[in-house]
Amino acid sequence: MHKEFLMGNAAIALGAVAAGVNVVAGYPGTPSTEVLETVAKYRPDDVYVEWSVNEKAAMELAAGAAYAGARSLVTMKQVGLNVASDPLMSLEYVGVKGGMVILVADDPGPISSQTEQDTRHFSRFSKLPCFDPSSAQEAYEMIQEAFEYSEKYKTPVFLRPTTRVCHGYATIDIKDKSEYYHNKPEGFIKDSKRWVIFPKLSFMNHQKIEARNKELSDVFSSYEKNKLIPACDKYADSKKGIASGGISYTYAMETLKETGMVRHLKVSTPHPFPEKLAVEFLTGLDEVLCLEELDPVIERELIYICGKYHLNTKIIGKLSGDTACAGENTRDSVSNYIHTFLGLDTPKAQKLPEPPALPVRPPVLCAGCPHRASFYAVKTAMKGKKTIFCGDIGCYTLGNAMPLDMVDTCLCMGAGLNIAQGVEKVEPDTTCFAFVGDSTFFASAITGVVNAVYNQANMVLIVLDNSTTAMTGHQPHPGTGQTVMGEIVQKINIEQVLRGIGVTEIETINPLELEASVSCVKRMAEKSGVRAIIFKAPCIAVTKPKAPLHVNQDSCIGCKKCIRDLGCPAIVMNDGKICIDASMCTGCHLCSQVCPVCAIAGGDDHE
Ligand code: SF4
Ligand code: SF4
Repeated sequence: MHKEFLMGNAAIALGAVAAGVNVVAGYPGTPSTEVLETVAKYRPDDVYVEWSVNEKAAMELAAGAAYAGARSLVTMKQVGLNVASDPLMSLEYVGVKGGMVILVADDPGPISSQTEQDTRHFSRFSKLPCFDPSSAQEAYEMIQEAFEYSEKYKTPVFLRPTTRVCHGYATIDIKDKSEYYHNKPEGFIKDSKRWVIFPKLSFMNHQKIEARNKELSDVFSSYEKNKLIPACDKYADSKKGIASGGISYTYAMETLKETGMVRHLKVSTPHPFPEKLAVEFLTGLDEVLCLEELDPVIERELIYICGKYHLNTKIIGKLSGDTACAGENTRDSVSNYIHTFLGLDTPKAQKLPEPPALPVRPPVLCAGCPHRASFYAVKTAMKGKKTIFCGDIGCYTLGNAMPLDMVDTCLCMGAGLNIAQGVEKVEPDTTCFAFVGDSTFFASAITGVVNAVYNQANMVLIVLDNSTTAMTGHQPHPGTGQTVMGEIVQKINIEQVLRGIGVTEIETINPLELEASVSCVKRMAEKSGVRAIIFKAPCIAVTKPKAPLHVNQDSCIGCKKCIRDLGCPAIVMNDGKICIDASMCTGCHLCSQVCPVCAIAGGDDHE
């Protein structure tokens, strides 16, 4: 063993490698992304890693590998599990042979997601065991244990960290390479009674799953990471207890070190719930405070157990309104909950020196982002027309910000397309646009296009092709011609895909050529059926910036059109004058095409 200072996600990845993982697949999404990237970086040569086109594909690939006896890991964020839920729900009825861990990172807050959903519900819903780490060290150990439980019980298992476990850093004990477990997959053994799901098989296996989960509840009552921590002398006679899980356990322990320990139940396996341990914890207590993020899963389980065992214990938490029902817990919020619960004075927040004023950074598209040019071209072309702009998930959701204001709807990945189709059915006189990024196109838009073409929709699909998965950190995708293992592969051409699925009107254009782009949008808007414009220009983060532009103050008439129309953060006001911040400008030349008096010049095309 040795110590390393690691991010929680890196600890999870190295834990998987130490556990002898053979196959890893996933789809990027905060806060899960670094797990797969770290495995890809540190993997032994015989470990296969891929960014799949979406979570469903990743889940199915990991299942296939586990059928063949491999240890497999599939990674995603919580909303990705919605995409993968179809194979997930059936997979439990079939089971696995090799260990299979489904890593789903939840995002309380939410900080970078469209929902605050709690994967512990999915665990109960799909009947899969769930491990909920409270720290990077625990996550490192838990994923190794999760593989063992998965193999022993022939079931996929969840590892469900939340943001602060994923992204927090800590010095942790990790194994030396010589201590790694090596799994040699047996290979796929044909057995249609086992691997082909039929109603009869599901009925039989359902009974086995329920019995197994009952057994696991007992097993988990003795699992060392589910703990009953006794009260200290000060609270030995207290009838109050605390139950916690995940990062809230870590926060609670920090506070309880100061206040003195009350009886404390740590829940590391929210499903199957360690019922026997919980009964032992609850017996003799009058009141229990539950500390957890997202939904009141522990709270509900304890209420259920009190009812089942006729225990007269009052359970409080989110359901009772004693803790917040939404958002992240923090060290301070948990401390306040505990002090209030124990009847102690709430500690005064430590007065910290005022931080230096930070520059205001509203969430906007980057300076030089080609999406700005695409949105602006559509906006200019459709000015005065009845339109709807259906957005999607990616950097380009920021097209909703002023002054662009070009996202009227956004639901989930790939949804914009069929939302546009639905609006058009109700408002045939509206020109319906759907915007989708290149990575999202491959992840979940292709079936939507097929649906729209087959059902004779009337809409304009805009593919914002910036040749990367920008929002999650520039992961490769099928259109980039590279894999996460560094292989160069054939690029899948979006225009050819669109033609192949029946779109006949397609134009590909560089959105930074403003006049041509506006004409293209006008042309396409006049046509009928499903037509597509591919705005193709690389993300500024994957290309070398060009020389910055500047405003010629002698020519500038101060009309502010460049600021008002584009909202490029590189264009600023200095002493009442319009200027370009050379440190931010990427020389995209969009503003120089907007200025009515050609006052913006420079860049690579010097005057
Ligand atoms: S050229 Fe203009 S629009 Fe492009 S990054 Fe520079 S200031 Fe912004
Ligand atoms: S659009 Fe041109 S003239 Fe108007 S403020 Fe900007 S640089 Fe000056």
